[in-house]
Amino acid sequence: MSTTTILIVAAEAFPLAKTGGLGDAITGMARALTERGIAATVLLPAYRGVAGRLDGAREVARLEDLPGGDARLLSGVCPVSELSFLLLENDALYDRGGLYMNDEGAEHADNGVRYAALCHAAVRIARGLPGLPRPTVVHAHDWHAALTPLLLRDAGIDDVKSVLTIHNLAFQGQFPLEDAAALGIPPACRSEDAMVAWNQLNFMKAGIRHADRVTTVSRTYAREILTPAFGCGLDGLLRERAADLMAIPNGIDTALWDPSRDPQLGPLRYHAGDLANKRLCKTVLQREFDLLPDPQATLVVLGSRLTEQKMADVAADALPRVLDTHADMQVAILGQGDRRLESALKSLAARYPKRCATRIGYNETGAHRLHAGGDILLHGSRFEPFGLTPLYAMRYGTVPVGSRVGGMADTIEDPGADAPLTAMAFANGLLFDGDGPDAMADALSRAMHLRRHPTLWRAMQRNAMTRDFSWQRAVGPYERLIHSLAGDAAVEDAAVASAPARSSHAGQRRTRQARGSMPMPL
Ligand code: ADP
Repeated sequence: MSTTTILIVAAEAFPLAKTGGLGDAITGMARALTERGIAATVLLPAYRGVAGRLDGAREVARLEDLPGGDARLLSGVCPVSELSFLLLENDALYDRGGLYMNDEGAEHADNGVRYAALCHAAVRIARGLPGLPRPTVVHAHDWHAALTPLLLRDAGIDDVKSVLTIHNLAFQGQFPLEDAAALGIPPACRSEDAMVAWNQLNFMKAGIRHADRVTTVSRTYAREILTPAFGCGLDGLLRERAADLMAIPNGIDTALWDPSRDPQLGPLRYHAGDLANKRLCKTVLQREFDLLPDPQATLVVLGSRLTEQKMADVAADALPRVLDTHADMQVAILGQGDRRLESALKSLAARYPKRCATRIGYNETGAHRLHAGGDILLHGSRFEPFGLTPLYAMRYGTVPVGSRVGGMADTIEDPGADAPLTAMAFANGLLFDGDGPDAMADALSRAMHLRRHPTLWRAMQRNAMTRDFSWQRAVGPYERLIHSLAGDAAVEDAAVASAPARSSHAGQRRTRQARGSMPMPL
């Protein structure tokens, strides 16, 4: 019985390379698929220092004439995630600081070449390299990998199926037409029909147009991206492909984000049945952020990229209004992003000494402690494909106040300000609409009022902490999708042992019937 193998092509994988939710999602999904018996290998650029963090890294192939020059393929296992990796090594492209940007915050000028090389490498692996198994399915993630489905088609490889997962449609990988040769784009593909948009090469468009299936990471975002407001100019193409577009919501790593086992909390671990140590985590956080060590204060935390997507600009306007009306409110901010927004939030902290503090930087440990010590997470977003951060906060009993968009609209349950107060006993957070500072400030004030009802608040915390958002639960639709694309020979052979040989289409149909449910179509 052959094993279904999947090659995951991505720019991030926690803990080897991460700038945001993509890195967490890749690792969580790959691990969960592996647990379900699908052999998953992640193809990742060999960014600086990454090869040294794998166990047993060894060269398995030399790839000549990729964009950016010759490269090596290294194979090894990450001792932390226990996942198999193929690293694409070309020091001229990847041995530098910063995944996508340099120290000054500017995009690396050769990002097109860097990620085109990754996609071409995926196609070489799919075509077959000595000593490496060919994947049954190539799973490309976001624009960095989105050239892969087009290149597979162009190479005539049709026995390896492709899936593109959109984690963030706002980043599309757009490069000048003149770069086509350097990026290895075949002349026949340099067209509007194949991958050109707004007179530029567009990696995301290539993936959406050519992948066998396109998925995105929440049901609401899947609907939103079909509209001009959220479609970032590709909504028309997505509507054309709506029959092949599926929503498969992400999960979270519930072992890593677990207040009862989290090593970052030292002896102050806690669980939904007893939050005494959570209160002590707040004291620790207040001390770390140089806030007044007042156990009665309500501590609002904000931990995210500080960008317009994450409404850091709106938070800078809204927070003073709430700080002025609620003397018992404190704010702790951890994040980095746009320099202008970083300095707006630093100025805010300077205006409210001991009540508001801003730490600029990327700090994985700090994020855990922020969720453990907070009472409320403020997570505004103009758009939010999934939104891992509110789910991490919920796991730690920190009630999210978030925007009613994308994944947050699906995961945060709020009966609304007009519902009877007692209905909040069934809530796990609060939602607000739009990107106005008033809406954000009102939602925070509403949360501050709810804090005065300890029984209700405790119920909300319990709801938040106990809902199952695990990858073990979330991975099922990916598993079914991959088996279905693979023709599901392995599963079918076991189920229908005596059936005669059949076409893969017939196999797919039978598998759908046997397994009952396919990933949620729109
Ligand atoms: P996005 O992927 O849009 O940034 P998500 O909320 O889905 O948003 O995921 C963000 C991930 O990045 C989370 O794991 C979060 O903890 C992490 N993160 C973001 N900013 C920081 C930071 N400054 N320090 C540590 N972790 C951060």
